[in-house]
Amino acid sequence: MKIAIIGAGVAGLSCARRLAAAGLSVVVHDKGRGLGGRCATRRAGGGQRFDHGAPVLSGTGTAFLSLLAEARAADAVGDWHAGAWGVQPVGRPGMTGFVRFLGQGIDIRQQTEITGITATGAGWVLQGADPPGPFDRVVCTAPAPQTARLIPDQFADAPNAVTYDPCLTLMVALNRPLDAPVVQTNPSDALAWIAHDSAKPGRLSQNCWVAQASTAWSVAHLELSKDEIATRMLDLFLTHHGLAATDVAHAAAHRWRLALVTTPLGRPFVTSADGTLYAGGDWCLGPRIEHAWQSGTAIADDILSRA
Ligand SMILES: Cc1cc2nc3c(=O)[nH]c(=O)nc-3n(C[C@H](O)[C@H](O)[C@H](O)COP(=O)(O)OP(=O)(O)OC[C@H]3O[C@@H](n4cnc5c(N)ncnc54)[C@H](O)[C@@H]3O)c2cc1C
Repeated sequence: MKIAIIGAGVAGLSCARRLAAAGLSVVVHDKGRGLGGRCATRRAGGGQRFDHGAPVLSGTGTAFLSLLAEARAADAVGDWHAGAWGVQPVGRPGMTGFVRFLGQGIDIRQQTEITGITATGAGWVLQGADPPGPFDRVVCTAPAPQTARLIPDQFADAPNAVTYDPCLTLMVALNRPLDAPVVQTNPSDALAWIAHDSAKPGRLSQNCWVAQASTAWSVAHLELSKDEIATRMLDLFLTHHGLAATDVAHAAAHRWRLALVTTPLGRPFVTSADGTLYAGGDWCLGPRIEHAWQSGTAIADDILSRA
């Protein structure tokens, strides 16, 4: 059986990992340059690295915690002593370390955007993939609105019921150490969460900080240019810490339009009546990496149970 997966985020790679472990032929396509989707590490021109999406691997379920233990044994996960935020599992040497662990040994085609999925007598064909197929099963783990655009007919309105909050994120590299808590959470401030990213275990660069704007601030400033977002968030960051512009070696912003799921679908995945086309991701179950993992593995289990 040949299976194509769209999306090399946590959901897509978790699904691929389980299917490949069962001996099935899987190829993963992702439009991005790097792995991980929203569980990602950004590298700046000066070599600085930032976890600009999910900062930690939140999870509570036994099965997910045992996956983290396996990743820890492979040195792909470590413990971050995050001050008042407690001890948090994180990818090593960046959040991408965890997704690389999930994707080990999997055929992953990066910078491959799938622009359409067509049924043929021989199976599913993916526009944008090389080769385009045919595939016996297709699993789409793009965020809900993108899934709805890609396969509108098969799943009716299911993904359209899902909602997300945006999050504007600032990445700052300072050219000197900053004496501030490892994590500051200020829910009522514009910069609702500020963290010393380089204090995470195994990091390859120093003095890197990441700040997430509050949902209200993110919504209000979502359509500004990325440079303008960076300028405004940097001003807030410098004022908050009493720093000068000369203390900054690098600053950039990232606009996550679909950062955190606020209304999930309420079931682990959707599938076509004949069980050959699936869609899933965090948007099915909730706003965390563990939800993405649950959805991806549930799809793999369903495929395997019908094989
Ligand atoms: C700022 C921020 C903070 C967060 N904080 C936390 C936290 O503290 N704890 C936590 O557990 N979670 C957190 N999250 C959420 C977490 O990152 C997500 O729940 C999880 O990473 C979602 O994984 P996914 O695989 O479902 O989706 P994604 O990571 O979005 O992966 C989908 C992939 O599909 C690809 N794709 C989309 N369309 C196409 C196409 N047409 N062709 C090819 N590829 C395509 C995308 O490039 C992407 O790589 C945070 C997220 C953000 C952005």
